[in-house]
Amino acid sequence: MHEWALAEAVVLTAEKVAKEQGLGAIQGITIKLGQLQQIEKNILKFAIREIIQHQRSLFKKAKIRFQNEKAVFKCRNCGRKWNFANAGKLNFKESEAIHFVPEVAHVFMSCPQCKSPDFEIIKGRGIWVDSIVGEKEGPDGSENKCH
Ligand SMILES: [Zn+2]
Repeated sequence: MHEWALAEAVVLTAEKVAKEQGLGAIQGITIKLGQLQQIEKNILKFAIREIIQHQRSLFKKAKIRFQNEKAVFKCRNCGRKWNFANAGKLNFKESEAIHFVPEVAHVFMSCPQCKSPDFEIIKGRGIWVDSIVGEKEGPDGSENKCH
């Protein structure tokens, strides 16, 4: 259900941008997904496709792409930043747990520099529309009628 609500938000955003920039056809939508975001990418993609199917010509040629944003953590004590790759001792089960419930990161991880468990997740939790590419409405569009 979460994915469907997001899909609708993505389509609405694309429509809004198209209107603001005078785009007649959207060619590509790039969506950024945080590493810690609990989203089924395939469901989200399916939902977007289902929604735009019923839209006018605006989305006819639209390609949907996803980009991943890696999670980044920052220590509140010493300011050190790190990600999963240099978190070190995490085993598979632990990183899975963090993936599904980001809050438990504090149970499994601590700052690699000062060992403080007081850190924040500064990247990897969001989902947003990164870019929308489209064609401008041509001079032969319906608004420029010849006499
Ligand atoms: Zn630290």
